[in-house]
Amino acid sequence: MSFPHIIRSAIRSTSSKIALLARSTTTFTNRSFCSSSESEKNSTTPSEASYYHLSGGPSHMRAAVFWEPGKPLTFEDFHMPRPKANEVLIKTKACGVCHSDLHVIKGELPFASPCVVGHEITGEVVEHGQLSDSKIIERFPVGSQVVGAFIMPCGSCSFCSKGQDDLCEDFFAYNRAKGTLYDGETRLFLRNSGKPVYMYSMGGLAEYCVVPAHALAVLPNSLPYTESAILGCAVFTAYGAMAHAAEVRPGDAIAVIGIGGVGSSCLQIARAFGASEIIAVDVQDEKLQKAKFLGATHCVNASKVDAVKTIKDITGGNGVDIAVEALGRPQTFLQCVQSVRDGGKAVMIGLTLSGAKGEVDINHLV
Ligand SMILES: [Zn+2]
Ligand SMILES: [Zn+2]
Repeated sequence: MSFPHIIRSAIRSTSSKIALLARSTTTFTNRSFCSSSESEKNSTTPSEASYYHLSGGPSHMRAAVFWEPGKPLTFEDFHMPRPKANEVLIKTKACGVCHSDLHVIKGELPFASPCVVGHEITGEVVEHGQLSDSKIIERFPVGSQVVGAFIMPCGSCSFCSKGQDDLCEDFFAYNRAKGTLYDGETRLFLRNSGKPVYMYSMGGLAEYCVVPAHALAVLPNSLPYTESAILGCAVFTAYGAMAHAAEVRPGDAIAVIGIGGVGSSCLQIARAFGASEIIAVDVQDEKLQKAKFLGATHCVNASKVDAVKTIKDITGGNGVDIAVEALGRPQTFLQCVQSVRDGGKAVMIGLTLSGAKGEVDINHLV
């Protein structure tokens, strides 16, 4: 008799974003069209940024637009997006490329189109919407450096009121279902035709983006824009999974299946939380090599050995206290459950194709 709990990512977001098939979260800086740089970050003062806004700022911007699956993104000119109450206009400094974006681009996750994807951003506050709460303006003054979360909580629905921002009704009902913000409208309109373009989260692959203020956090001066972009998706998904779903404790044995952006963040957080055995599972030696630097004590190449058996061997035949599936495939879903000791936890983070099913070993679960 065994009692592993299957935890469907505490962060629904968690699931919705990860689709770690990508198994790599890369970040690029909008230097090409923003001409931003770290030196600029360090030299930009609130007063200069205020001037930037008061002077009117640019009236248009560019963004990368997804039209339909199988076709390349195109750069298009847009009217400058304008924030409404309690929304913030951000000058984008960096935006990660997550596999969730790729799922949309490949047509594997249905989403309104045309749209601007990109949901892991850092940037600088350049404008607040009219009638915004004064506390929001005080917290994120024009010129402040921020990082955005891909789940953008409305702050007032039943879930947000209970502190479960990750389940925000408005985010899923409007942004994920319709590609808009919470008045049912996008903030993106093509410059030449006025055609509305939808937003995957904030639509981060753009020179500027509008973000509901509840999705922002101040980015400390000590953290660089580029490397910090993944905080809003890959890292916070991993943190939610390890801190809230898995509740990792010192001494735990942990297996992480799929060493991409989220999986590699899980390794680092597991190490920070004091896990004893941290087993990285992937099918690419290159990723397993990197995993060692990120805290893995053991590496398992599942294309060469039986991953479940190897995990059992490493843990004296018991299985791990916590197994994390950060890939999103039926096979690894089952491996995750099978790798867990009696009473342990299987934490599912990986997103996959719409409608995909995962098998569960019932007797191991019950
Ligand atoms: Zn993401
Ligand atoms: Zn909400």
